[in-house]
Amino acid sequence: MTDLHRLSIRELSEGLAGAKFSSRELTEHYLKRIEKIDAQVKSYVTVTAEQALAQADAADAALKAGNATVLTGVPIAHKDIFCTQGIKTTAGSKMLDNFISPYDATVVAKGKAAGLVTLGKVNMDEFAMGSTSESSYFGATANPWALDHVPGGSSGGSAAAVAADLAPFATGTDTGGSIRQPASFCGLTGLKPTYGRVSRFGMIAYASSLDQGGPMARSAEDCAYLMNVMAGHDAKDSTSIEKDADDYVANLSGTSVKGLRIGIPKQYFNVAGLDADVKARVEESLKKLEEMGAILVEIDLTMTDAYVPTYYLIAPAEASSNLQRFDGVRYGYRCENPVDLMDLYKRSRSEGFGPEVQRRILIGTYALSAGYYDAYYVKAQKVRRLIQQDFLKAFESVDVIAAPAAPTTAYKIGANLSPTEMYLGDIYTLAVNLAGLPAINAPVGFDKENLPVGLQLIGNYWSESQLLSVVYQYQQATDWHTKRAAIAEENA
Ligand code: GLN
Repeated sequence: MTDLHRLSIRELSEGLAGAKFSSRELTEHYLKRIEKIDAQVKSYVTVTAEQALAQADAADAALKAGNATVLTGVPIAHKDIFCTQGIKTTAGSKMLDNFISPYDATVVAKGKAAGLVTLGKVNMDEFAMGSTSESSYFGATANPWALDHVPGGSSGGSAAAVAADLAPFATGTDTGGSIRQPASFCGLTGLKPTYGRVSRFGMIAYASSLDQGGPMARSAEDCAYLMNVMAGHDAKDSTSIEKDADDYVANLSGTSVKGLRIGIPKQYFNVAGLDADVKARVEESLKKLEEMGAILVEIDLTMTDAYVPTYYLIAPAEASSNLQRFDGVRYGYRCENPVDLMDLYKRSRSEGFGPEVQRRILIGTYALSAGYYDAYYVKAQKVRRLIQQDFLKAFESVDVIAAPAAPTTAYKIGANLSPTEMYLGDIYTLAVNLAGLPAINAPVGFDKENLPVGLQLIGNYWSESQLLSVVYQYQQATDWHTKRAAIAEENA
């Protein structure tokens, strides 16, 4: 079969169970595509062909023996931030260029237990800091819809791999938008779960109070299958919630769009820099949801102006603390011929970290230093609470909140935005992480250059099933999620 990459996760599951094709055939099909097409997309940092084929053979044996799960034999790509035993985990950094983890992240281990086949590790902004994937030590990844454009970031490799049909789905992480914004830029569905829903064990930390892993795929249905693997309590992560995960696949039709109250924050649609096409596509998608029975309600989110400054204090502060461990002694790159200990620290960190990571460490260390701590870090924490309260108040009168995922579509590789310009592009995603809420991106059309536009729906705590269900029903009624980039149409 030449079109295995066109099948949804449910179709792959059914095809494998019905022995229409084997996991080996499916895995070889994807590996062949990666070999032929990824030279243009550059989504993979590491392709693990040998291990993948061994996992595929084991999956085929399990399928034959009748002890397969619903996902046994389905391939996946992991963001290179999840530790993988025996396989390099780089976090997109020179610092970890040669790092081989002695254990698997919980998300990876759960994937293995479910019988998923790991195709490889995909590219990302260095330590997940960025919105373009250009800060990766391994070079930029291309947007499959326009190869001279960025796929977004930081989970840009995950998004590009799925959008080019080089993996049926992928894991991502979202600290301030890194699942939703690349999903938006690449025409995918991506879910950022409630903080604590997905284990962070073995996920290299950027900002621990904001980081959360989640699925990236072509549809809400495909995301639901991966959520069933990723979600759940993990005793190895103290911030993981002791609360059973839902069956996200079974719940896909569980929420009625009829009568669903969708909040439209008036501040969000007056943001300077909101692209006219993005605004129009998002409004059209809301109109469609209205036709399906949803009720649109204008709401106030009064803290909107505080999102960017609050996040860009808290995230760098936590990053400066988390990244202390990469000192060339215990962890990470070590410089050549250090003259003494200070020289070892200084040069290992200056040579091992790229400019964006160094910028964040400097900002974060400044915000945490004695004399500035109260004025910056403590103040930001207080504002963070106000942002959360703003959302909780809104959820008293609406079920979900709608927003663009990003103010623009993908921009050109090398556009060289100033750091502040880039940070402002995160306006619609950051608050969700500051409040710990779940949110989903769904593709809702294209701009005049044929670049994808995304609608973001933000839910109350633990409402992942509801968000997936609403997008699932929208996708039953529309076909934006079935559109493929030209490069995805190429056969290997
Ligand atoms: N673009 C944001 C940042 O650079 C978000 C990144 C993320 O979610 N990992 O911090």
